[in-house]
Amino acid sequence: MSQKPWYQWTSEEILQSSGTEPSQGLSREEADKRLASHGKNELAEGQSISPITLFLNQFKDFMVLVLVGATLVSGLLGEYLDAITIIAIIFMNGILGFLQEFRAERSLRALKELSAPNAKVLREGKLESIPARELVPGDLIVLESGDRVPADVRFIETTGMYVEESALTGESVPVSKHTAALEQDEIPLGDQRNLGFMGTMITRGSGKAVVVRTGMQTEMGKIADMIQNTDAIDTPLQRRLEQLGKILIIVALALTVLVVVAGILHGQEPYGMFLAGVSLAVAAIPEGLPAIVTIALALGVQRMIQRKAIVRKLPSVETLGCASVICSDKTGTLTQNKMTVTHLWLGGDVMEVTGDGYEPQGAIVKEGKPVDLHNNQMLRRLLQVSVLCNNASLHEEKQEGKRKEAAAAGVWTIKGDPTEGALVVLGAKAGLTQSSLEGLYRRTLELPFDSDRKRMSVVVEHQGGRMACTKGAPDLLIQQCAYVLWDNRVIPFTPTLKQKVAAAAEGMAKNALRVLGLAYRELKESDQQLDEPGVECQLVFIGLTGMIDPPRREVREAITKCRRAGIKTVMITGDHQTTAEAIARQLGILPQDGQAMSGHQLAAMSDDELDKRVNEVYVYARVSPEHKLRIVKSLQRMGHTVAMTGDGVNDAPAIKAADIGIAMGISGTDVSKEASSLILSDDNFATIVSAIEEGRGIYENIRKFIRYLLASNVGEIMTMFLAMMAGLPLPLIPIQILWVNLVTDGLPAMALGVDQAEKDLMLQKPRSAKENIFARRLGWKIISRGILIGVCTLAAFYIALTTASDDANTLIKAQTIAFVTLVMAQLIHVFDCRSSRSIFHRNPLQNVWLVLAVGSSLLLVLPVLYVDALRTIFKTVPLGVTDWALVLVFAGIPTFLMGIGSVLSTSGRKTAPPRKNGPKRVKPMKPVVR
Ligand code: ATP
Repeated sequence: MSQKPWYQWTSEEILQSSGTEPSQGLSREEADKRLASHGKNELAEGQSISPITLFLNQFKDFMVLVLVGATLVSGLLGEYLDAITIIAIIFMNGILGFLQEFRAERSLRALKELSAPNAKVLREGKLESIPARELVPGDLIVLESGDRVPADVRFIETTGMYVEESALTGESVPVSKHTAALEQDEIPLGDQRNLGFMGTMITRGSGKAVVVRTGMQTEMGKIADMIQNTDAIDTPLQRRLEQLGKILIIVALALTVLVVVAGILHGQEPYGMFLAGVSLAVAAIPEGLPAIVTIALALGVQRMIQRKAIVRKLPSVETLGCASVICSDKTGTLTQNKMTVTHLWLGGDVMEVTGDGYEPQGAIVKEGKPVDLHNNQMLRRLLQVSVLCNNASLHEEKQEGKRKEAAAAGVWTIKGDPTEGALVVLGAKAGLTQSSLEGLYRRTLELPFDSDRKRMSVVVEHQGGRMACTKGAPDLLIQQCAYVLWDNRVIPFTPTLKQKVAAAAEGMAKNALRVLGLAYRELKESDQQLDEPGVECQLVFIGLTGMIDPPRREVREAITKCRRAGIKTVMITGDHQTTAEAIARQLGILPQDGQAMSGHQLAAMSDDELDKRVNEVYVYARVSPEHKLRIVKSLQRMGHTVAMTGDGVNDAPAIKAADIGIAMGISGTDVSKEASSLILSDDNFATIVSAIEEGRGIYENIRKFIRYLLASNVGEIMTMFLAMMAGLPLPLIPIQILWVNLVTDGLPAMALGVDQAEKDLMLQKPRSAKENIFARRLGWKIISRGILIGVCTLAAFYIALTTASDDANTLIKAQTIAFVTLVMAQLIHVFDCRSSRSIFHRNPLQNVWLVLAVGSSLLLVLPVLYVDALRTIFKTVPLGVTDWALVLVFAGIPTFLMGIGSVLSTSGRKTAPPRKNGPKRVKPMKPVVR
């Protein structure tokens, strides 16, 4: 295309030169061709770590380098076999670490892919949603309020469009966009009002545009280097563990030095002692911890995806487990968002509408008899306004592969807002279809619906002139009406009549119906002010429609689950208070003594007053998005960890402020999704509860393997430390120490990371967000089990040392017994780590991965005892039955002794709470009115 800047082109020129048919868009073939020549519409990624670097990084650790150095020296001194074995073990450890980190990295990448944005594009006449990276120059895209502009585009159609471009221009106030060509040269970005730029945000209005530049050619691409530093954020837990890791290194090193000094003072040979010390340090430093934490988080996130929750920010996985309040939208999240008009109210008459779902089959009946449309001007007007003031459309989709009769019937679906869809279906049931009105009325203006205004208007031209049509929340709409249709006549809307309408709306709302009012006005020649105040005034009120929106089936159970888990559910909705209360009661959200509050009441309250009441309120109705922010903040001030859902542009601040911001995958805008930390791919409340359950499970699993790894390390250090303090010979030689570390650390810890949750996970109160990872006696367990493992290993070593008959092999045998006892003690203890109580509380075979991991660990140990060649390397002897008995008794003591102790102490307390160590169980709930 030409060199002239895009803003100087007219819409026609753009369409022509890009080869785009306005009604068709590009063909798939052409789009593929352009994708091949222009490349993907994405910004170049920063350098990612190559697998080789990742592998080499495994050997960067200081102590590992010391060990390699020391080993090489001993190799040079003639201990070839030892040196080769130690290097081989370090290498195997490196591979294990690499695999863990590689897996972690890959899962994080997959996660990023999932939250990649989509774009609505017209291809071969069909509007479809495709990944934004597949857009090509010439594509015709549709943009709506809340969308992120996916590439640089030239607008060819705009309706009240405003775009926030601060990322590029620094201008924080949204600017309006139009389609006219600009003539000047060198216009700065901020004034190129007919262009849209990648990464900017549509805050109001809608439009169509042609893509002119993609990927690195876009304005955003030009500054991509500046915005590329989107490093993966560590979760608070990861950060805390990193700090803990540093402390552990110092502690491990200090203890190792103590061990070495004590050994030398007690007559050990210095170089051998040094090598043992370095090996101990390598074994005792939990270098695998960060990778295993990442894997546990990432695998948990994968499980969440299967349960339809997409995590955008890893830290939220942790926060999810702390959620104490879920603030949820009503429509579409708690309910199905499948609206059907069931009742009408016109001039004092109540009518019923028959038929189910979106199928346009049904009738309007009054007192059991069909209403004659021809004789009812009010009903005709109501249907007319319902269909004209509407952006949804009804479609019949033929189903392939079904039986012939079914295929002929087809499935009726709605494109657009279900509330509006219900009105289109209502019209179609009475024979007033969109196509039948198309030739008669031409829309010249739209004042779009938004959750603040709670109404929508259009102006249409017809043969006789122009008409304004408005629909919206009745309580607000009647304030815009001066007249009412009554007995087929237009009469003044007196306060008495207004009260009648309000009472009728209230009656419908009590039956959980969503109520919409409809109004119109014939515009005069003199009505030239076509904006909100000019159009939405002096309207003639027509009547009310009441529609059902059934609750989602699984939500009731999810709410009960929340209550048992100490999590409060709060409904926040733009809908009428009475409707909201009725549905909240049906779902079990609103308890008998719970309160509902309207946006109006909320607005009149100070923050202090709100804080005093916020714990008692379960339903907020007729709220505007900015109220949501106040509710989140108030709940946070009262010490809650808040999960908050939202879908619109204006919900973004509340989503961002919440501890867990949740956006809707289907109905949510890009803006809300980008502000969120969690996206529900099915818009369903029950999915939030599943995500919380996963979040709690992941955190507990992290605690499980931290307990296992650290207790093991304490055990290893204790064995050596106590032996040296007691003046005994070395209980383990360096190769054995390293082998214990390799065999016990990696696989069993990873298997704990995917452990099943304990049964009562959702019967406990949420943990505090500030809780220390070692809280709930985890620290005590680590130290007590670790010391016991060390003491028992040393006891087995000592017994073997003092009772052996074969003098020549006594030390080797005792060391073999210490080596196997240490391994077995850890492999038994790993099953204990699955429970917050004791090993007897859970079926040890339930976690198949753990059984396999322990099995493979055993397979790595037994050959060391029974294969001649390995025995020479590892300096072991084969163990007989009595030796194994000694090993198993001492290996089992730390776990079984503590287990029996815990069982006895629990059964000893008759009225004791069921859990000794875990968080408090939640008290039985108050009954909820059904
Ligand atoms: P939630 O916040 O739980 O999703 P909601 O969908 O009912 O609740 P809004 O979409 O903000 O909240 O709707 C608020 C009110 O606005 C509704 O009760 C209805 O009266 C009115 N309304 C909803 N959709 C439209 C629409 N498309 N046109 C006109 N008025 C509407």
